[in-house]
Amino acid sequence: MTESGFVLARPTEHADKTRFADALTGRGGHPNRRLVVVSNRVTPTAGARPDSGGLAVALRAALQQSGGVWFGWSGEVRETVQMEPSTVADGGLTFVTLDLSRKDFDEYYNGYANRVLWPLLHFRSSLIQFSRQALSGYLRVNRTFAQVLAPMLLPQDLIWVHDYHLIPLAAELRKLDRTEPIGFFLHTPFPAAELLRVLPNHQHLIRSMCAYDLVGFQTQSDLDGFRDYLLRWAGGEELEDGVLRAFGRIVRAQVFPIGIDVAAISAQAEAADGSRHMRRLRQSLGDRALMIGVDRLDYSKGLDARFQAYSHLLETYSETRGRTVLIQIAPPSRSEVPEYQEIRRNLAAIAGHINSRYGEFDWTPLRYINKSFSHQILTGFFRASRIGLVTPLRDGMNLVAKEYVASQPAEDPGVLVLSCFAGAARELGEAVIVNPFDIEGMAEAILQGLDMPLGERKERWTAMMKILERNDITAWRERFVRALSATGRGW
Ligand code: UDP
Repeated sequence: MTESGFVLARPTEHADKTRFADALTGRGGHPNRRLVVVSNRVTPTAGARPDSGGLAVALRAALQQSGGVWFGWSGEVRETVQMEPSTVADGGLTFVTLDLSRKDFDEYYNGYANRVLWPLLHFRSSLIQFSRQALSGYLRVNRTFAQVLAPMLLPQDLIWVHDYHLIPLAAELRKLDRTEPIGFFLHTPFPAAELLRVLPNHQHLIRSMCAYDLVGFQTQSDLDGFRDYLLRWAGGEELEDGVLRAFGRIVRAQVFPIGIDVAAISAQAEAADGSRHMRRLRQSLGDRALMIGVDRLDYSKGLDARFQAYSHLLETYSETRGRTVLIQIAPPSRSEVPEYQEIRRNLAAIAGHINSRYGEFDWTPLRYINKSFSHQILTGFFRASRIGLVTPLRDGMNLVAKEYVASQPAEDPGVLVLSCFAGAARELGEAVIVNPFDIEGMAEAILQGLDMPLGERKERWTAMMKILERNDITAWRERFVRALSATGRGW
């Protein structure tokens, strides 16, 4: 079962050992060093669901071209531990997956990753629910991953580990004498050093980050948090710019803002234009201006403040009543975690309040939808929206912000209203930047977007597209892999 309740297609195809060994030795067309990617969840192409988060979407796009091996959890939960991985080969890419036991799922995934690390990394220390049992489950699953992965590795491999679920993986692989270059990329924000100290096992966790050769962050301020921690609390020293020595190891730390497949998304958005969904959408809107938000239902996304900003807009600027519609797509995630159940109840109540207060017999201001849509449909919706609302309280990057921009028609682009606390704001300075803690400011920004003349919209959009194209998903992968290949050659 996945976190959203779907069952992923089981990767049983080609599971025979011969095929498995062939795929793992990189036969099948990769003359260079083989890339072995490890992430918590692996989504084989055949099982890809529209509700995947940013990491899955980005990694699939990144690996489609390069090929390699993608190792991680299948998304399935079993009663007992299963150490035998399953494989699926898809072109040059081989998916190798393990199932988790119910205990692993409760402790490693829900307990430590979702209820300790996620709130901590999003600056929400009051939501942390730490327990030693959850921590030991987190370490156990990382050890299991290392034990299953280690025998598959070849000396020339480059190993690229993703996200906070797997921070201790390199340390576990090192214990098994693996000396290949291992890189880590954190998709979430990284907190300020002082906040990190709230975590009872902060020192052990950060020590294990130093078992990597390369550690990548989305933005400079994330990197600064890591660097400050090493220098102030771990007796570390900076050998040269971005190269740190701490806990007896040398680690390079660098910023690699993740990109999207700009060309594919633009083409998808354009192709979606004539679809049945788009016809239904247009019919339902009439000539009202559409605003859109697309976020996993998560407290980091700032959905209640966004709803309140829309409510403030309708209250204060009466000309927007009956003339605007906000579609908020919010597929539920991590529904077994109590904090997520609470935010779901809360948002449904606010949405109901807005619609009952401002709605008319022929106009519903807020269409709040708790289900996921395919990328194809979403990009069409983005293209039809005059405003894209991306207002998280904290976000590593936020791919929706980039996808919204890439989906716009050049001749009549919409306006991105973007939180200054999304990593994307570091690159997309031509968006209308807002502070999500300022409800009135967000309402004013929406109004500014609704009133923005075509010339200004085109100028801002053109500037943002240039940045997206320069740093697309391929550039991101290549930069990271190049930096990882250079480790071990000495700095
Ligand atoms: N997404 C999707 N269908 C949905 C909702 C989201 O395909 O119904 C995709 C969205 O297009 C984006 C990703 O999921 O590619 C979300 O990534 P983001 O970085 O915005 O947020 P995350 O969920 O990783 O926190």
